[in-house]
Amino acid sequence: MKAVWNPALECASPADLAARHDARLRAQLDYVMARSAFYQRKFAGLDVEAVRGTADLARLPFTEKSELRESQLAVAPFGHHVACAPQDVRRVYSTSGTTGRPTYIGLTRHDVEVWREAATRAFWTNGLRPGQRIPLVVSPFVVAASYADAFENIGTCMPIGVNMTDRLIDAFRFGGASALLCTASYPLHFARALAERGIDPASLGLELILAGGEPGASIPEVRRQIEGLFGCRLMECSGNGDYCAMAWAECEHRQGMHFCAQDIIHPEIIDPDSGEALPIEAGVRGELVCTSLDRECMPLVRFRTRDHVVVTHTECDCGRTGFGIRIIGRTDDLLIVQGMNVYPAAVRDVVASFAPATNGVIEIQLREAPPAGWAPPVHIKAEVTAGVADPAALAAAIEARLREKLIFRARVELVPEMALPRYEYKAKLVREVYKGA
Ligand SMILES: [Zn+2]
Repeated sequence: MKAVWNPALECASPADLAARHDARLRAQLDYVMARSAFYQRKFAGLDVEAVRGTADLARLPFTEKSELRESQLAVAPFGHHVACAPQDVRRVYSTSGTTGRPTYIGLTRHDVEVWREAATRAFWTNGLRPGQRIPLVVSPFVVAASYADAFENIGTCMPIGVNMTDRLIDAFRFGGASALLCTASYPLHFARALAERGIDPASLGLELILAGGEPGASIPEVRRQIEGLFGCRLMECSGNGDYCAMAWAECEHRQGMHFCAQDIIHPEIIDPDSGEALPIEAGVRGELVCTSLDRECMPLVRFRTRDHVVVTHTECDCGRTGFGIRIIGRTDDLLIVQGMNVYPAAVRDVVASFAPATNGVIEIQLREAPPAGWAPPVHIKAEVTAGVADPAALAAAIEARLREKLIFRARVELVPEMALPRYEYKAKLVREVYKGA
C-alpha cells in the first residue's frame, strides 16, 4: 500500500513546489480580480500584476475575518467576496460568529473536490487506511461533510450524529468501527462515558484517533493517557472552514503536523505585530496566514487565521516535504501578563501534564478588565480527579510549573471533576468574571 496519498505533490522538491505555487497564485489572483467585488475594491490602486509569485505576496494586504463578516452583513448571505455565480454554490457551511449572526462559507462543485483531496491527504498522513470504518460524529466541526468525503476516499464512513454516545459506542462494539475523528478534549470525555456504562475503552477495537479542532493532542502526557486507555494511536490534524477544511497532519514520526494542502493553499508565517513574513525554519513562531490557490467560491488572499504556530521541522524520514507545525494558541484569546504573552491553551497544556491527577479542564478567570485583570497572580480553576491525596501540594506544583514554563504567576484553585462547564466544540478557556460572564 502506498505510504503517501499524493507523492507527486506531498514529496515534491521545494523548487518544484515553489514554481507550482507561483503559477497557481498568478491564476488565482487573475480570477479574484476578475470576479470578486471585495478584492477589486480592496486592491484598488495596488499593482496586483506585479505579484509574479508567492515571494511577492507581501505587496498585498492581509484579509481579516472581521472583513468577511462585514462583507456578509452588507450583502447577505455570501458577501462581496463571493466570486462565483450564485447557482454554482453547491455546499454551504456556517460558523457561529461573535456577532450573533453566522458567517457562511460556500463551495462550488470544484471546491468540494479540492477540499476532499486535502482532507484525504491529511487523514492518510495520520495513518487512516482502506478497510477502516470511521463514525462521523463531527458536526460541531463546521466542515464535517468534507471529512465524510475524505473518509469515503480511504475507508468507510458511518454517519452517527452528535451527542449520540450510545450509538457511537454501538458503532464500535457491533458495527466494526475502528477509527474516530474528534477534538483533542473529546477522548477523555468518551472514556468517562464508557466507564459510566461499565465498558473498558480498550475493548472497543479503536485503533486510531484523529484529533483536530483544538491544540492539546500533542501534549505527551495527554497523548500517553488516551493511547493507554484505548490501546490506540492518537494523531493530530488541523484545518478550518475559512481557508481549508483539513490541511495539516502528523505522520508516523510525529514531529509536528505536515503541510498537506500543496496546490490548494499557500501558507505564510508572519510576525503578528509587524505583519512581516518570517522564514519557514524550525523554531520560527508566528501567525499562520493562508492564500487560496485553487478556489472558486470564496478565494482568500493572505487570510489571517489567528492561529499561532511554531515550525517544528522542514525535513522528515517519511519523504513528505511539507514543513511541520504545532499550534500554540490563538491571537484572539492571548493574555499579556507583565509583558509576557500567555496563551490559554498553553496554560491548559501545563495543567494537563499533571494527568492523571488533573484532566486538563481549566478556566482562567479574569476578575478585572484587562490590563488590570491580567496582573499576576492570574486566577486559574482546574479540575482535579478523585483520589488525589494532597490537593494543596498539587496546586503548588502546578503553580510552580506554570511559573517555570510560561513565566507568569498564577493562583491555582482545584475543583472537583465536572465542576467546570463542558463545551461540545472548542473549549472556552477564559471567563471574563468582571463582565458578569
Ligand atoms: Zn513525516
